[in-house]
Amino acid sequence: MKRADRITRVPPYVFAELSKKVDAIRASGADVIDLGIGDPDTPSPDYVIDKLAQAARDPMTHRYPPYEGDKEFNREMAAYYKKRFGVTLDPDREVFMVSGSKEGLAHLVWAFVDPGDYALVPDPAYPVYRTQTLLAGGIPFEMPLTRGNGFIPDLGAIPEEVARRATVMFLNFPGNPTSSHVEKDFFRDAVAFAKKYDIALVHDAAYVEMTYDGYVAPSILEVDGAKDIACEFYSLSKPFNMTGWRMGACVGNNEIVYKGLGIIKTNTDSGHFVAAQKAGAEALRRDPFAFFAKMNAIYTSRRDALVDGLKAAGWDVTSPKGTFYVWLPVPAGYTSGEFAMMVLEKAHVVVVPGAAYGRFGEGYVRIALTVDEARMREAVRRMVANVESRPA
Ligand SMILES: *Cc1c(COP(=O)(O)O)cnc(C)c1O
Repeated sequence: MKRADRITRVPPYVFAELSKKVDAIRASGADVIDLGIGDPDTPSPDYVIDKLAQAARDPMTHRYPPYEGDKEFNREMAAYYKKRFGVTLDPDREVFMVSGSKEGLAHLVWAFVDPGDYALVPDPAYPVYRTQTLLAGGIPFEMPLTRGNGFIPDLGAIPEEVARRATVMFLNFPGNPTSSHVEKDFFRDAVAFAKKYDIALVHDAAYVEMTYDGYVAPSILEVDGAKDIACEFYSLSKPFNMTGWRMGACVGNNEIVYKGLGIIKTNTDSGHFVAAQKAGAEALRRDPFAFFAKMNAIYTSRRDALVDGLKAAGWDVTSPKGTFYVWLPVPAGYTSGEFAMMVLEKAHVVVVPGAAYGRFGEGYVRIALTVDEARMREAVRRMVANVESRPA
């Protein structure tokens, strides 16, 4: 059997060794605390589940859904953008429902990247931007996110000839895995850069609602003129505890959203279960801000338990204002993989090696705030007591 060559362009799964070890330790009966997965541990809102059950009884929802999304869902998404960001969107031309932003981001690449084209991708980052670019035959050009640049891309460091050959740029703030955040000024610079080089600008806003200490994350579409060149992926997954529902939207520039992503999607899938979209519309309409406030208070107390606990023991760690991750520098003398393995063996705590998110992720591990506060305290206690080597 001959598989397509493009399959071999995707790097092998980096956690293979770590997950084998997790399985082995669990099999021995040990209590493993998993701070690896970025998947909310609390349920979706009750009223959303009720809406799904009700909508599923309507036989109209049993038929093929519209490609671009249920009208009501897209309308609620537009109304939400107005309410939350002050951004006006035309639900029929500037909102396209996606089965999760992962699906949307992956398919968007195929609308913008021809073989040999550059895609500007942050590094470290959510792997989809890079791997789909490789599958499409494009060239991912890394924008390093380092402590030196505050984990924000230095647009001035992108070589002129790369910028000219780039067709798409990905951004993600608040960002996975570094948990860095930006103010609107950075988005303004990014929009100007994208306009100068005629690059489709794609902002992945998966964590835009997960913010702390009074910080409110902007939409890139708040920038004047952003809609000329940019789109944004809004996801219900993380903020509404709805990862399993696979719901989000690509919103913004009509050429990107409908004439780019839309063409790939109408030729690939046939939309998303309408009853789920009715429930998603309810999530956006009902009381989103109260729900986010409740969740963010929970994540804040977990974050503080982790960060304060590690700091008290002398660890070098920064408290994030966004996402539900802490980006922890590993001690000198260890790779991120070696350190994650040591934390697993000695403390029975799972953290993700930063190298899994790109070469500039080396030197860090990502810790997810996806266990309750008591479990988090227990994880910290074990790490501090058993992982003796730590940064000075
Ligand atoms: C979790 C995550 C996603 C995936 O979101 P879905 O809408 O569930 O597909 C996208 N981008 C980033 C950065 C994420 O961390």
